[in-house]
Amino acid sequence: MPSLDSFAAEKLASLEARQLRRRLAETAREDGITVIRNGQRLLSFSCNDYLNLSQHPEVKEAAIEAIRRFGVGAGASRLITGNHPLYAELESRLARLKGTEAACVFGSGYLANAGIIPALIGEDDLVLVDELSHACLWAGAQLSRAELQVYRHNDLAHAESLLDEHRKRHGRALIATDGVFSMDGDLAPLPELGDLAKRYDAWLLADDAHGLGVTGGGRGSAFAHDRKAEVPLQMGTLSKAAGGYGGYLCAARDVVDLVKNRARSFVYSTGLPPASVAGAIAALDIIARGGDLVAAPLIKARAFTAAAGLDEAQSPIVPVVLGDTARALEAARMLERAGFLAVAIRPPTVPEGTARLRLTFTALHPDDAILKLAVLVRGLVHP
Ligand SMILES: *Cc1c(COP(=O)(O)O)cnc(C)c1O
Repeated sequence: MPSLDSFAAEKLASLEARQLRRRLAETAREDGITVIRNGQRLLSFSCNDYLNLSQHPEVKEAAIEAIRRFGVGAGASRLITGNHPLYAELESRLARLKGTEAACVFGSGYLANAGIIPALIGEDDLVLVDELSHACLWAGAQLSRAELQVYRHNDLAHAESLLDEHRKRHGRALIATDGVFSMDGDLAPLPELGDLAKRYDAWLLADDAHGLGVTGGGRGSAFAHDRKAEVPLQMGTLSKAAGGYGGYLCAARDVVDLVKNRARSFVYSTGLPPASVAGAIAALDIIARGGDLVAAPLIKARAFTAAAGLDEAQSPIVPVVLGDTARALEAARMLERAGFLAVAIRPPTVPEGTARLRLTFTALHPDDAILKLAVLVRGLVHP
């Protein structure tokens, strides 16, 4: 066997032995909440389409119309010829929603963080990261080659002690955190982190992938606390509550212009297809209306946590931590037999020993199904 193939085969066998090998399951999403998987129709509690906008008629129509007018691809990076006329509209809507001067749209949320962080800090600088931050914040921090310090999850005192110890030796400093933690559903203390960052002249970057559209009246996690958090770098994705694809940064005009000049994942990657940009504009219009729709996912999640005997949900993401990988996989299979899709999340996506079901609630989930799921989950956590 060639060494490349045997390397791959050995790695896979090792993952298999630890129940960590993953396989793609073909999943057809028929509407906002049901999917067909392995020939079975399931009610999904594993999609991040919190407002079901991926299937919304206005959003779909906007995307189709954009294809008719501009075609399916952008043709080049945005700085060359890929900056089609829909981009300015999307960026001004994002900036308005987030209360910033400007915005910059990227190919995806992952690409945004991989580009933004190295564009702003470098080798002589310091970056602090919450230990439970999303993989793309780590990627951006590592690409920056700045000194990386990790603070315990949501631990302000620990973050402060690290700043005390390390800040002076560095020119610029950045603090990076999820606004809503993707695997735990809890919120970062953004107002306090904003204060801390200011005191140490550090720049706070909050990843609002799971906040936009479902927290802070739809405006996101910087607006979800008793006072507005000062977050000069608000990034996020258009792939979750906004239902489509793409990433963004909302910030001051000069910061955005610098990022558009320097972020390599912006400069050297093709612009989003016109349909994605048009779909996002329509989705943001719906989100900006706020109201019952944007409030619904959290209300549903809280109905679930109350019925299942879990801590009250802080966001539409509810972790059911089961510890052992085998136990999490068995729980997912049991729920699948009952008609629910609740995917097990295991290391390295979550820390060793914290394998879990990660449930997500959306505006369209029926209340009776939520209660039925809660009864099954209650049996898992309080056997
Ligand atoms: C999903 C996610 C991303 C990545 O966004 P994509 O647009 O899917 O690349 C970034 N950060 C967090 C916290 C996420 O959950």
